[in-house]
Amino acid sequence: MKKITSILVMTLAAPALLASTRISSPSGSLVVTVDADADGTPYYTVDYRGREILGRSPLGFRMADGMDFTYGLGLESSVADTVRRSFGQDRIKRSRVDWHATHQTTTFKGADGREMGVEWEVADNDIAFRYIIPAQGEKRAAVIERENTAFCFPEGSKITATPQSDPMIGWKRTKPSYEEFHIVEAPLDQKSQYGHGFTFPVLFNVGGEGDAWVLLNETGVDGYYCGSRLGDFDGSLFSIEYPMPEENNGNGTAAPGIALPGKTPWRTITVGETLAPVVETVVPWSVVEPRYEVAEPARPGKGTWSWLLWQDGSINYDDQVKFIDLAAEMGYDNVLVDNWWDRNIGRDRMADLIKYARSKGVNVILWYSSSGHWNDIEQSPVNHMDRPVVRKKEMKWLRDNGVRNIKVDFFGGDKQETMRLYEDILSDAADYGIDVIFHGCTLPRGWERMYPNFVGAEAALASENLVFSQDFCDLEANQATLYPFMRNAVASLEFGGTVLNRRLNKGNDGGSLRRTGDAFQLATAVLYQNPVQNFALAPNNLTDAPVEAIEFMKEVPTTWDDIRFIDGYPGRYVVMARRHGSRWYVAAVNAMSEPVEVMVDLAALGTSADRAVLYTDTSDLQKLEKKVVKVKGGKLKLKIVPNGGSVTLLN
Ligand code: CA
Repeated sequence: MKKITSILVMTLAAPALLASTRISSPSGSLVVTVDADADGTPYYTVDYRGREILGRSPLGFRMADGMDFTYGLGLESSVADTVRRSFGQDRIKRSRVDWHATHQTTTFKGADGREMGVEWEVADNDIAFRYIIPAQGEKRAAVIERENTAFCFPEGSKITATPQSDPMIGWKRTKPSYEEFHIVEAPLDQKSQYGHGFTFPVLFNVGGEGDAWVLLNETGVDGYYCGSRLGDFDGSLFSIEYPMPEENNGNGTAAPGIALPGKTPWRTITVGETLAPVVETVVPWSVVEPRYEVAEPARPGKGTWSWLLWQDGSINYDDQVKFIDLAAEMGYDNVLVDNWWDRNIGRDRMADLIKYARSKGVNVILWYSSSGHWNDIEQSPVNHMDRPVVRKKEMKWLRDNGVRNIKVDFFGGDKQETMRLYEDILSDAADYGIDVIFHGCTLPRGWERMYPNFVGAEAALASENLVFSQDFCDLEANQATLYPFMRNAVASLEFGGTVLNRRLNKGNDGGSLRRTGDAFQLATAVLYQNPVQNFALAPNNLTDAPVEAIEFMKEVPTTWDDIRFIDGYPGRYVVMARRHGSRWYVAAVNAMSEPVEVMVDLAALGTSADRAVLYTDTSDLQKLEKKVVKVKGGKLKLKIVPNGGSVTLLN
C-alpha cells in the first residue's frame, strides 16, 4: 500500500509528463479532466459515474489590452489534495455545512510567459472552479474583456432557465432584475426571449441514457467582479457572458477590472442522477468565506407587509398600525413598511410609529430605493443608499430610531459597479447593526456566507405579480415547482408569499383570482426558504381565513437545520422536507392537471414518528383540511390535488 501511494505522489508531482489532469471527487463519482488541445486551447470535460456530462468545454479569457489566454498554452498541475470544511451557517437550507472535495490547481503557461491558473474543487456532486491570474510580467492590473469559459452538453440535453431581459426596460427602466418567466426543458438551441441568454442558475436535463441533471451557477461574486450569465447556445456551447454595456443606464464598465494577482468568482456545476443533489446543494456557501464579522448575528423572523395586498395607499400611519397589530397578534417579529414612507408618514411620525411597533414587540423594516442615477425610480426614499456619505448618515438615523432591518429595491444590473454597491450597502449596514433584504436585484451569489447581515433577496417573479396580473396567478403553481430546483436551490428567496386572500386586493373582493388552495399557500411558507419572511397576510385573514391556516402561520419557522428532496419534477410537482430542530416539515405542491400521489419514506428523513399532522387541500380547493394521521410501516402516502398542496409535520 505504501509503495502504491508513493508512486501516485510521484506521478502527480511530475506534471510535465502528464498529457492531461484527471481530478476525481473523493468517492470517484465525479471526474473532471483538464487539458489543452493541439492549438494550446485549455479545456475541461466532466464525467459522472462513467457517463459524459460535459464534453470538451473551453477555458480561458482575453484581457482588454489584447493579452489572450485562449490559445498557445501548455498544462502543468499541482499535486491534488483533499479539502474538508465544516462550519455552522445560519440563513440557508442547512445549519451545518460539511464540504469534502478534491482540490487541485491546473496551470496553463505560454512560451511567451503568459500564465493562467484554474483552481478546482471537485466534490461528489459539485464542481467549483475559478481562474487564478498571476501578475503578467510588470502588469499588476487588467480588464477581463471576455471569457472563453463554456459548457458543452451532450446532444439531446434540455434547458430550464429564465432569460436575461433587455437592459433599461420595465418599471421605471429598472431591469434587468431577474424577474422573468422560465422556459422549461426547452431544446438547447431555443433562443432566449430577449436574445441575451439566461441568468443563473440554469438547469440542464442531460441527454443520453438514463437521468442526469446539472445546475450551473456562480458564487463568490462581490465588488471585485461582475455578475455573469450564460449566452445563447452557439451550436455547441453555452458561454459565460458579462453584463450588457447599457445596464445601469450605461454607467460603469461591462468588463470587470481586476488587480493582479487576482481571482475570478467560482463557477459551479452541480451534477446528479436525481434532482436531490440540485435541491440539496451547498456549493454556493462551501467555497466562499465571510467578508466581515458582525457584532450580533442576523435576526431571522416573520413579518407582515401591507404593500402586497393594500399597495401604495396603505403607506400611512393608520394602516401601518393595523399591520403592526396584525404582526403582534400573529406573534411575528416584524412589519415591513414599503415605499413612500418618508413622504406619506414623514420621519417624525415614523419615529412615533417605530416606538408604537416596539411597544408591541414588533420591529419595523424600512424600504429604500438603491438609486441614484441609474433608473427613473421616484418612489422614495431615493438617493439615500447610493453614496457612502448619505448612506452612513441614514444608517445612523435608522439605528438611533431602532430600525434593524432595511429592504433596498431597484438596482441597476450585474456590472462590477453595481456589485460594489450591494457590498457597500451591506458593509455600511453591518457597521450600524442593520440587516438587509434586496429586491429588484441580482441573484445573490454565496452572500449568506459572505455577508453575515444579508437576509434575503427577491430576484424572481415574486408575489407582487399575483397582484399585478391574472396570468401570473394562473401560473403560480407552475412557478412554485421550479424555484426549489433553480433560484431557491442556490440562494435565499424573499418571495413575500403565503396569500390567504382568495382575491388579490384589499377587500378580498376584486383584483386577480388566486388559483391555488390554502394548503398550497401554507406549503410555500416551507418551500420558499428565506430567513426573513414578509408574508402576504392581511388583517381580514384573522376572521376570513381558516383558523388552522392562521395557527400554522403563527407556528411555521423561518430557519432550517436540514433539507431532503423527496420527489418531483420541474414544472410538474415538488415534494421536499425541511427540518427545524427535531421536526420535519414536508411541503408539497402540484402544478399538473391530475392529482399526484407520493410515498414519503420516514427512514430517509431519519425519523420514526408514528403520527403526522397533515394540512391538505380538498380537490375543489375550497377547503383546508387538517388531520392527525397514524404513520404505518414508516411510510406516509400523500395525495396532492391540481393547484393544491400539503404540509406534513413530523416529530
Ligand atoms: Ca420586484
